[in-house]
This record gives sequence, C-alpha cells and structure tokens, in this order.
Amino acid sequence: MTAPVTTHPTAAAAVSPQESADAADPAEILAHARREVLEGGRGLDEAGVLAVLRLPDEALSELLALAHEVRMRWCGPEVEVEGIVSLKTGGCPEDCHFCSQSGKFDSPVRSAWLDVPSLVDAARQTAATGATEFCIVAAVRGPDARLMSQVREGVAAIQAAVEINVACSLGMLTQAQVDELTEIGVHRYNHNLETARSHFTKVVTTHSWEERWETCEMVRAAGMELCCGAILGVGESLEQRAELAAQLSALDPDEVPLNFLNPRPGTPFGDYPPVEPRDALRAIAAFRLAMPRTILRYSGGREITLGDLETQGMLGGINAVIVGNYLTTLGRPAEADLKMLADLSMPIKSLQATL
Ligand code: SF4
Repeated sequence: MTAPVTTHPTAAAAVSPQESADAADPAEILAHARREVLEGGRGLDEAGVLAVLRLPDEALSELLALAHEVRMRWCGPEVEVEGIVSLKTGGCPEDCHFCSQSGKFDSPVRSAWLDVPSLVDAARQTAATGATEFCIVAAVRGPDARLMSQVREGVAAIQAAVEINVACSLGMLTQAQVDELTEIGVHRYNHNLETARSHFTKVVTTHSWEERWETCEMVRAAGMELCCGAILGVGESLEQRAELAAQLSALDPDEVPLNFLNPRPGTPFGDYPPVEPRDALRAIAAFRLAMPRTILRYSGGREITLGDLETQGMLGGINAVIVGNYLTTLGRPAEADLKMLADLSMPIKSLQATL
C-alpha cells in the first residue's frame, strides 16, 4: 500500500511556494515563515521546516517568538490539559526500539491490567485538575475482543461518572473497531506515526509505517478527532525530522503529541543521548510552523530533554500538556504544570468549549 502523503487535499491546500526555503540567511528564513505562516496561515512545507531546523542558535529566540505568535494568532492562548492512564501495561508484541513496554526487550516493565473502577478513579482525578481529555492507553499491536470489551465497559463507566472527553490509544485498528469506538463516543484516537517514513524500519520492524498511516486515515474518516504524533531523538536526521513534520501535516491531525526520547534501560535505544535542548526547542517551533492550527502537545521526555527550559517550549509553539505521570516514566506533579500555566497567564481550555 502506498500512503498518499503528497496527495491529501489538506496537504495540497497547505503547500505554498517556498521561495526562500533554500536560503541560508536566518533573517530571510524567518521573514519567509512570518509571511507564510503568521500572516498567511499556511504551514511551512518540508523544505521550509528543514531551513528552520537548521537555524543557528543566535536565531533561536526570534524563532521561538515567531512560533509563539503563530500559536496565539491561529490557536489562541488556551492550553489543553490531558491525563493518560494505562489500561494494559507492558508485554506488547511489537518491537518499537524506544519502548520499555515491548515484550521483546529486557526492560523492567511487566504486563498488567487496570480494572474499571480504577479507570474511573483516574478519570475523576484527571478532571479535578481542570483537564478536558482523558486518554485510555493499552500497550498492544491492536485491540483483541477482551480489550475492546474492557474499553467499552470503561468508557461507559467514565461517561456516567465524570465530565471529561474520553480518548483512546489502542494501537492499530480494523474498520469495525474504528466504527465501534466512534459509536461508543470516543472523542479522539491517538496513533502516532512516531518517525519519518524513511526512518521507520530503523525504529520498528514488526509493523510498517503504512499500517500506522492507514489506522490514522480510518480514524479521521470516521469522524473521531485524530491525535497523531512523533518521538524525536530516535536516530533520525534533521532531514527526516522535516520529512516527519510534512507527513504529519499531510494527515492534518487535530492534535500532535511531541515526545522526546527518554532512553529506557534494556531497550535497543537505551544508550541513545537525549535530544539536545536547543534542538528540541527548534523542533517545537518548526512543528508549530508546519501546523499552525494543530494542538501541539508536550508529551513524554520533556523533563529529561528540556528541564528548566520547559517554559521556553510553552512560549515557542506548544499549547497542550499531559499532566501527571506518563505510562512508564514519571512526569511532574500536576500542580507544577498548572502553576507553570498560571505563571504564564495561559488559561486552561474548558470542557464546555469542547463538548
Ligand atoms: S510503542 Fe506501542 S506498539 Fe510499540 S512496543 Fe510500545 S506499546 Fe507496543
């Protein structure tokens, strides 16, 4: 199957002449981005993103300021807050080389299931932070009958007890599963492209990039919101980072979660270095300039990659966060993120606006 990366109508609409993409002059690259994205509302194409990723450190502040202006103009000041919970942890048959939940590696995450009352409790705690999204995640290739039945039960129990949008991340789906999740009221579905198509086989060998793409297309066609993101720092080149931004932009997801590798012991990428902070900030800004209207979410790895520079990302294009812990690694207490948003005078997006 060939993924229609270059033929998607939304992508075609976003493509514009990138007359200055090859220019090496930082001022010209930024002026081009200002015209196209800030003023025109058109995302940068692959060449434009690459030029931004190659900007020197001296241009970083100006780049982040531009990406922030773009986010404020095309998305507004609100920040979308989400909590995630693992319904089924570990023992995944896939071999994503960055993931400690794969059953193929010698990593310390063991297989475990969460029961429905615990799921509802987690949703309630998430809603108490002001979050509007609660994502149920399972470490699987795709859902089997047991998982689908747990999800059905869990989603119904949450909907009956908690005011929050429910999202799911359950791996690759069949059309029948997409239809069922839509029918039971799943608001958004997460399935990441993870990395550029040209790099994918260096990161995952048990399924293909095209299979991921296909699930994303089905989700969007069914009317669920599509959350499709990336993990940076998995050995990709800058060119491949730009390729990935263009591929995501072609999918036109409602949300892009941006993960940075947090090297986990026992995984094949366990000794990879974290992404250098300035490269991470350039990537955040570049993804914002590629997708001016998307929800761009800080996801796993931001603590290890950015540390104290996290607020710079919030002022450089990010407009969503995951509060609390991630699936296998600790994040920061929700209060720390909520304080950061208050300090930045960024309001949390309210549920009324999303239901
Ligand atoms: S990233 Fe997802 S599919 Fe890949 S090994 Fe981890 S849990 Fe499995």
